[in-house]
Amino acid sequence: MKQCKIHSLESFSAQDGPGIRYVIFMQGCPARCIYCQNPDTWDIDSGKLCSVKEVFGKIEKCLPYLQSSKGGVTVSGGEPLLQPDCLIELFKLCKKESIHTAIDTSTFYPADIDEKSIDKLISLTDLFIVDIKASCIDLHKHITSMELKKPLEFISRLEKKKKHYWVRYVLVPDLNDSESDIDNLKKILSNLKYCKRFEFLPYHTLGKHKWELMGLKHPLENFRAATPEDTKKAAARLLA
Ligand code: SF4
Repeated sequence: MKQCKIHSLESFSAQDGPGIRYVIFMQGCPARCIYCQNPDTWDIDSGKLCSVKEVFGKIEKCLPYLQSSKGGVTVSGGEPLLQPDCLIELFKLCKKESIHTAIDTSTFYPADIDEKSIDKLISLTDLFIVDIKASCIDLHKHITSMELKKPLEFISRLEKKKKHYWVRYVLVPDLNDSESDIDNLKKILSNLKYCKRFEFLPYHTLGKHKWELMGLKHPLENFRAATPEDTKKAAARLLA
């Protein structure tokens, strides 16, 4: 059985997909988002190697409440699509037990990842949660170090496959919440047939200490957390 590089496991989450979720945080991410809450997931050479069998054994123990809540398994990160082959094995086991599978992804996986593996993984995934970090090219590059076309192309791929997905946008006051940011986001979201939910995630500062522990200066040192009013205002503009 294959092995996965894992950052951590959470056996009970109500925020990472429908129902109660068993969440697997994968190790490794090629992006460097300036608001990243988990910079300790970046380095693919750290984390813990776990066999798929071992991870599935832990999930099985939680099956009663995962299934009674109509929940399932969500793989997050880090970036899950860096390790498609072990997730294919894991999701095959989940499908045998009719466990709902979800992947929370920024879509930032490098060109040397086999696209056939990504397709296979898509076919085994019931729900994608796709992060859009900014709605214009320059700001996206500034926030993530990656191109905006990456998540947009992945969303087109899901649309073509008629695969259900949610979109999430971390709302950072005075960074990506201007009227033009929200208007561009609205354009991106229009005509998405298989996007079943959109959520603003209010930026918070709880992950700042991890940057400090890693000896890194937090790029958003002087930025504040988003308030419910910020989210309400952005949502009102999006819906206008
Ligand atoms: S994609 Fe996610 S894990 Fe990677 S740097 Fe950005 S916020 Fe952090």
